[in-house]
Amino acid sequence: MSQVMTHARLIALLKQKGIQQTEVLNALQQIDRADFVDAIDRSQAYEDRPLSIACQQTISQPYIVARMTELMLNGRQQLNKVLEIGTGSGYQAAILSCVAMHVYSIERIEALYQAAKVTLAAYKNIHTFLNDDIDALMHDGPFDGIIVTACCHKIAPHWLNALADGGCLVLPLAQGEGQYLTQVVRDGKAFTRQQWDAVSFVPLLKGIF
Ligand code: SAH
Repeated sequence: MSQVMTHARLIALLKQKGIQQTEVLNALQQIDRADFVDAIDRSQAYEDRPLSIACQQTISQPYIVARMTELMLNGRQQLNKVLEIGTGSGYQAAILSCVAMHVYSIERIEALYQAAKVTLAAYKNIHTFLNDDIDALMHDGPFDGIIVTACCHKIAPHWLNALADGGCLVLPLAQGEGQYLTQVVRDGKAFTRQQWDAVSFVPLLKGIF
């Protein structure tokens, strides 16, 4: 018979699956995912899988949230300024608020933006915006980390130029039939790109509604 997942069991599972960095595990421990899922799904909040939220969107699987955070930190413990595209439930933004001084998070769906603003009201270092224009936001850099939580078909050069030195971009990138977590690290003028886990994110779309 399968075990009922508790918050503590979820953290143990994330370690088992290879999440190693203490700051990331602490963040996943500190933030209660139950606060970010729909009331009807609360009993499943600690399952390591995505769940549906309003507007046909999803709250990501905890392992993927942890993995993207670890890839964005890239060995660093605490960042100054990070940008998240795709606020959704606000869960990833809350995790980022534990490892960054300032978190900027944008969402294109007004109902989700409004809901996340309420959920995240107590997080004084998270700034949420109703916006779909990832390109324009890059002018607000430099960012120590950029996380896109919707599937992209390309990495535009100016996204990379919005990274501070040592900064790191993490996103799901479409490739053939699949999508893969992709990490780009800036070292001065050099950018190193690596491909990691296969993932399944909703697409990055244009337009605010
Ligand atoms: N990070 C979220 C999960 C995001 S699901 C969480 O922790 O719950 C992806 C989100 O990206 C959706 O809410 C979708 O509306 C949003 N999105 C898609 N394209 C976007 C764009 N161009 N700008 C901002 N948000 C976008």
